[in-house]
Amino acid sequence: MKETLERPVLVTRSSLPPLEEYIEMLKPIWDSAWLTNMGAYHEEFREQLKKYLKLTNLELFVNGHMALELAIQAMELKGEVITTPFTFASTTHAIVRNGLTPVLCDINEEDYTLNADLIESLITERTCAIVPVHVYGNLCDVEKIQEIADRHHLKVIYDAAHAFGEELDGKGVGTWGDASMFSFHATKVFHSIEGGAVAFKEASLEKRLYQLKNFGIMDSETVEYVGANGKMNEFQAAMGLCNLRHVDEEIRKRKQLAMHYRHRLEGIKGIKLCRENPRVKYNYAYMPVVFDGYKAKRDEIFQALKEKNIHARKYFYPCVNEYECYRERFPAEDTPVAARISRQVLTLPLYADLPMDAADMICDIIERKGH
Ligand SMILES: *Cc1c(COP(=O)(O)O)cnc(C)c1O
Repeated sequence: MKETLERPVLVTRSSLPPLEEYIEMLKPIWDSAWLTNMGAYHEEFREQLKKYLKLTNLELFVNGHMALELAIQAMELKGEVITTPFTFASTTHAIVRNGLTPVLCDINEEDYTLNADLIESLITERTCAIVPVHVYGNLCDVEKIQEIADRHHLKVIYDAAHAFGEELDGKGVGTWGDASMFSFHATKVFHSIEGGAVAFKEASLEKRLYQLKNFGIMDSETVEYVGANGKMNEFQAAMGLCNLRHVDEEIRKRKQLAMHYRHRLEGIKGIKLCRENPRVKYNYAYMPVVFDGYKAKRDEIFQALKEKNIHARKYFYPCVNEYECYRERFPAEDTPVAARISRQVLTLPLYADLPMDAADMICDIIERKGH
């Protein structure tokens, strides 16, 4: 085994199409000089994504965060929103920036998504929506969440940033809830450099989402909503169209690596891997490993890897309720499972071109720290 790697192994590496493919896509942009504002690629990308994601209603955005923020705005909500502290900053920020109050619900021990059994105890007369996260591409208990939402007349808006292309019983993940946000950021399984989308149930939302991403403008003389600028440009859409041709192959390669990690780490005492649901078609976006009762602590493993120029990520650490901007508002003690998992979890490097022997080297280092 080599002592250290010359080139660092990062937790992820953006996939890029062959350069010629992208250059070829640029020519029509130069011919038309139509660079943004819902051009031809924007429309083509939207149509192809609907097919790929197996859903009927989809609107594109400049990034995932703006997509989520505007999806929430489109629902015209007031009051409290039940959500998870075990997520990326974007989820909570999107709620707070809409003038809504997040109510943090703890996660379950198996796949770290919202613990659906705890949701009802947090519902008050002010509750208007649930914003769960399909964290690491682990799908939430969508059926139970829908049942609770129906009973209490709540909207459900999923943060599906990690769940691109995933399916439950052969149905696109974006078909659950009132809306789902996908992120096409460069570090995600599938990307358009930056980019995002909202899948939604009610066809009537299409016009509102379109207006909201375009300053709330209705026509040249009418501005109906306090909107934002959330438009995806043609260069992003072109990258998305190129990457869409290769995404199945990317996921296939990721799956091989994820299976190999599983094979190497499964069954080791003190190492916990996420439970897999046989009903789900996964995208293998992340490789989270929880060190619970292992000989070495998460931070020691993190450090041992770093010394070999391998950069895993403490994802998600800290939890949202430990952020400087939220610490005073949400006590972290209210969500003990999330607090503990955030201190035990490490996401290992995983991307299509990660060599199998790098994955082996990572497992070797983890195993040696356990002796
Ligand atoms: C990436 C991500 C987002 C935000 O998406 P961007 O496209 O980067 O704006 C939101 N939520 C989660 C869970 C994410 O991982």
